[in-house]
Amino acid sequence: MGDQNGATRFVIDLSENVKYTVSVIDDPYRVVIDLPVVTWQLSDADEKRRLGVIERFRFGRFDADTSRLVLDLGGPVEVARTFVLPPEGTYRYRLVVDLKPVSKEAFVPNRPAVQAAPPPQVAARPPITERPRNTKPVVVLDPGHGGVDPGALGTTGTREKDITLAMAKELKQTLEASGRFTVVLTRDTDVFIPLQQRVRLARDAGASLFMSLHADSVNVASISGASIYTLSEQASDKEAEALAAKENRADLIGGLDLGDQGNNVAAILISLAQRETMNLSARFASYLVPEFSKDWHLLRNTHRFAGFAVLKAPDVPSVLVELGYLSNPNDERALSRPAGRKPVVDAVARAVNRYFDQHPT
Ligand code: ZN
Repeated sequence: MGDQNGATRFVIDLSENVKYTVSVIDDPYRVVIDLPVVTWQLSDADEKRRLGVIERFRFGRFDADTSRLVLDLGGPVEVARTFVLPPEGTYRYRLVVDLKPVSKEAFVPNRPAVQAAPPPQVAARPPITERPRNTKPVVVLDPGHGGVDPGALGTTGTREKDITLAMAKELKQTLEASGRFTVVLTRDTDVFIPLQQRVRLARDAGASLFMSLHADSVNVASISGASIYTLSEQASDKEAEALAAKENRADLIGGLDLGDQGNNVAAILISLAQRETMNLSARFASYLVPEFSKDWHLLRNTHRFAGFAVLKAPDVPSVLVELGYLSNPNDERALSRPAGRKPVVDAVARAVNRYFDQHPT
């Protein structure tokens, strides 16, 4: 990266000449660079470098065909030039993007053409109302974040997206080993999935229960433990409200252009039909609490409510679990290892079994 005369030059080294698109979007201001699926060789230290108008950047898989780099900007810019330099000396191809700060009035968004496609690995199933009797209930596990959106970061660089994916795979294995459930993951690779698509996927899969898995990070290292959230228009407290706002930003972090939908995601409106679903969600949460306190540890006031976009399916009982705090060294260490996650996986599996004992489908 280089900064000259107020303009910022961003350079990506490429092993070959590839097709790319560069887009700029606002609210917040970001530059989105889409490339074919590539292997990144960037370090976390690179990601945190701040230069000129670029405050930070992140990268990763966006969908089946696209890798995405998102630059978060301090203000509006225009893309002054983009070009690929041919190999020269020790350099291979280099993609150069020149950004020039402009006024708010002069800013012209140029939205990315590519929207995330549905993940190919999940087969659509009939909606829940048409599901034949005597089949196993479907539990959908949603590993939070992924691809271009790393989620929260731990003290030693642990990424939320990796923890949630590992945990979801282990939980799937445990639940399916009982022979009682069919378990579907919203993602089983390191790929970005928009929040609405996670909800749609749960409904298409005929889910009887949806669980979104997350891990938080805060500025206070001593805070630790799991917490459990269900949907509500009215947040139970300021912290839950702030957490929902943070998790709902996943789409923005992934460089998704939400257009007018951005506001709808923030304003969660709950229909009458959702009330029964919400009661069942609360019931499942009430089974999780004692299981977590047996084998893992819980944050105080542990079942809380807020407007989480990913819990919005009107007909699928849905719970979001923050497994712990990656900003707490003990939580981070435990959640980073299969052996450390085992008690958490077992606790959730017991709660799922208990829920279906009480509410057979
Ligand atoms: Zn999260």
